[in-house]
Amino acid sequence: MATTMAWDEECDILVVGSGAGGMTGAYVAAREGLHVILVENSDKFGGTTAYSGGGMWFPCNAALRRAGDDDTMEDAREYYRACVGTRTPRALQDAYLDTGAPLIDYLEQDPLLQFVIYPWPDYFGRMPKARAGGRHIAPMLLPAAALGPLKAVLRPGLGEERRGQPAPEELWGGQALIGRFLLALQEKANAELRLNSELVEFVREGDRVTGAVVHTAEGSRRIRTRRGVVVAAGGFEHNRDMRARYGVPGNISGAMGPPSNTGLPILAGIAVGADVDLMDQGWWSPGLMQPDGTASFTLGFDGGIFVNQHGRRFLNESLPYDRAGREIIDQMADGRLTLPFWLVYDDRDGGMPPIQFPNLPFADPADYRAKGLWVDAPTLADLAETIGVPGDALAETVARFNGHADQGEDPEFERGVEAFDRLFTNDRPPLAPIVKAPFHAAAFGLSDLGTKGGLKTDEKARVLDTEGRVIHGLYAAGNSMAAVSGTAYPGGGNPIGSSMVFAYLAVLDMADMAAEIPAASAAA
Ligand SMILES: Cc1cc2nc3c(=O)[nH]c(=O)nc-3n(C[C@H](O)[C@H](O)[C@H](O)COP(=O)(O)OP(=O)(O)OC[C@H]3O[C@@H](n4cnc5c(N)ncnc54)[C@H](O)[C@@H]3O)c2cc1C
Repeated sequence: MATTMAWDEECDILVVGSGAGGMTGAYVAAREGLHVILVENSDKFGGTTAYSGGGMWFPCNAALRRAGDDDTMEDAREYYRACVGTRTPRALQDAYLDTGAPLIDYLEQDPLLQFVIYPWPDYFGRMPKARAGGRHIAPMLLPAAALGPLKAVLRPGLGEERRGQPAPEELWGGQALIGRFLLALQEKANAELRLNSELVEFVREGDRVTGAVVHTAEGSRRIRTRRGVVVAAGGFEHNRDMRARYGVPGNISGAMGPPSNTGLPILAGIAVGADVDLMDQGWWSPGLMQPDGTASFTLGFDGGIFVNQHGRRFLNESLPYDRAGREIIDQMADGRLTLPFWLVYDDRDGGMPPIQFPNLPFADPADYRAKGLWVDAPTLADLAETIGVPGDALAETVARFNGHADQGEDPEFERGVEAFDRLFTNDRPPLAPIVKAPFHAAAFGLSDLGTKGGLKTDEKARVLDTEGRVIHGLYAAGNSMAAVSGTAYPGGGNPIGSSMVFAYLAVLDMADMAAEIPAASAAA
């Protein structure tokens, strides 16, 4: 098949996906003078990244330095290694650690791609060299008007897309990141960005991927790649079969990525011999149950307690969300926890849950109540009955927690000890007593920000086969690659940071490489 392949067109680099990694890959390729085609299977550019905070965890980068940061690479390495351990190769970890700052230097040479600090504590506050101020930056805000017609092809944020909120005039986070890349790419004549174009297959000839098959509304296109393909197509969180096959906890109702993150490029990689790793892993979070049956990534609990089916607390409610998600998964696995679990809180906010960062803005409170997802009761005993937990246990749990709140410390779960726990409460422990009737509870499940298992790569983002050999011409980044962070989430900005870094490394590797395949005329 390979030798008789008729090509419809060719380019130097094909980029698959248009989140942080895809945009970085396309931008760097174009800036390095290469002809790049980016294909995106949905009708909008941006992927999960467009929903996100757009934060990047890049130690010692220029934006941090400008703000007076005194971190060192040695400290950052010690911290990261302590979090990730040996689950992923040291060389891969070092590639991530050592490339973030140079990538920011490279991008900031372009006036459109500018970054600022966004203090956000590291997620393992008691690991050596954790930083309470974090190692985290974000893209500079972008007036939506600056995008002009490109606004129509940028995936909207969650509030606009899923709640019908008006588009903000000032874009921030992932919206600003993707918007800025779209503007920068618009200036590059050698970059073509295509929507509604789905990668379905790679073409492998010998030890090399030489092109790919892309489905469009007009039919299949066979695109020959002179240098290679960068797979930055996100995870497979919306693929029910893959989740089941690889044992990913939770289900698609908790998946925060766009529905187009179906993992097809990972399967296409496997079909040409690629190895995969970490396939049961995701970036996890407690998920606020929504009236439409989904469970959404939620953080910033400045009050309330989670209780299990026994009416007992079962974790530090203010843990960084991935650590909380992993606790939930572990306790579900051995039967200690069943879903839903409940956030129990009092009436100090008039019945609204004490959540500062719902990510997906709340729906109409009446809709949650109509579905029994938010419940109210005049007494704790009534509340216990409504949510189906033992009343005496709930009363005792709340009384004990209130005692901890009065003392300002939580000996049971150490809530408030780490810097991240105190991020939403002005550096005070988030221990608010539950005293003011009526009492309330909100139902929770498990959510994921995306899966993080995928194509196994080396430190240049080159995809490896099951014997550990490089498959030339095939690269992976972000949630399409087996995550450099393994089973840990060391700090906010790791998912986007690693997607950008490995897409950058992939393209640099290809840019350094002489075009090894002679140009062939398109033989459509
Ligand atoms: C609310 C929220 C906030 C977050 N905040 C942060 C944060 O501040 N910092 C951080 O690091 N992480 C954050 N995350 C996680 C982060 O957004 C994602 O892990 C990350 O954006 C994934 O980037 P990616 O480049 O791998 O893929 P994505 O951004 O998911 O992009 C993948 C793209 O590939 C496309 N695609 C899929 N299959 C194909 C195919 N076959 N052909 C063509 N295209 C295809 C998809 O349609 C999609 O557009 C957040 C997540 C959420 C939900």
